[in-house]
Amino acid sequence: MKKYFFYIFLLFSLSIEAQTEPFKIVLDAGHGGKDPGKVHKKIYEKDIVLKIILLLGKELEKDPLFKVIYTRRDDHFIELYERGTIANKAKADLFVSVHCNSSPSKDAHGSESYVLGLHVNDINFEVAKEENQVIFLEKDYKERYAGYDINSPESFIGLSIMQEEYLEQSIQAAKRVQSSLAENTQRRDRGVKQAGFIVLHQTYMPALLIETGFLSNQEEREYLNSIAGQQQIAISIAKAIKNYYHWLKNNSQLSKEAAAAARGDMYYRIQIATSNKDLAAVPSNFKGLSPILKEKIGNAFRYYYGKETDLKKMENLLQIAKKKGFTDAFIVTFISGRRAN
Ligand SMILES: [Zn+2]
Repeated sequence: MKKYFFYIFLLFSLSIEAQTEPFKIVLDAGHGGKDPGKVHKKIYEKDIVLKIILLLGKELEKDPLFKVIYTRRDDHFIELYERGTIANKAKADLFVSVHCNSSPSKDAHGSESYVLGLHVNDINFEVAKEENQVIFLEKDYKERYAGYDINSPESFIGLSIMQEEYLEQSIQAAKRVQSSLAENTQRRDRGVKQAGFIVLHQTYMPALLIETGFLSNQEEREYLNSIAGQQQIAISIAKAIKNYYHWLKNNSQLSKEAAAAARGDMYYRIQIATSNKDLAAVPSNFKGLSPILKEKIGNAFRYYYGKETDLKKMENLLQIAKKKGFTDAFIVTFISGRRAN
């Protein structure tokens, strides 16, 4: 008999497992085809980032929780807007664009991760501007990117608002990428930065762009160009994405509540009783408490007291209910009219 229950339980948990939608990640290898990206000593950014992306995808695909979608898997040119379209169509949960950096200073080294935002300083602006240059290789760039003036930091102010909704999550993902790269590759952590990358602006989901290292720095160029280096970077980013995924899962209930609270769409009630008896929701049936709400659940009924958006006020009402004799009463959260816990 025990065994039988165990199988029922197993079947049940398996079906739950199967229902879990995979977490979709769009992996975007920067540049490609006629756009080599940065070139130093015949080392092409487009080749290095593609190798990193393919290794990263392979690493993530080992876990069925993740579904990987690539913007390119070989060396061909792909427009910036098309990269965003791929991610939006797939309804991806995260967009990760991988690039290599370059600097007039040969000493500059280390990795940095960008989320869309205002260029806080000139250097960030220059990095974004370089990556944005690619639009000039596209046929219809004048119409397609009419809102952008890549030479003007101000032109991005209005445009960055559209990614605002995802900013916190993008930063959380970027932070994890940075600390994982620093820890696992033992290279300089240049931090999480904000700038106006067109490719990030095209997406409607948390999005980040990783400048994995500097091709202008000889040591780093050799590292980036080595299989060991590419593998190390890919594994570091994969670890960070997994970490972000778990953080997100734990926080989704909290963030749902925060969003509902911001919309004024969250409130509390106190559950004072459940019963098979169908009582009228009037104060006289509940020791004078008012207002009372009745909810039918299968063959039973739940009875609630009060409705408040302020948790402090609700805690006061809870004390009142307990004093009246409803000692097992507790606070229940409602989001958009539905019980959340
Ligand atoms: Zn690039």
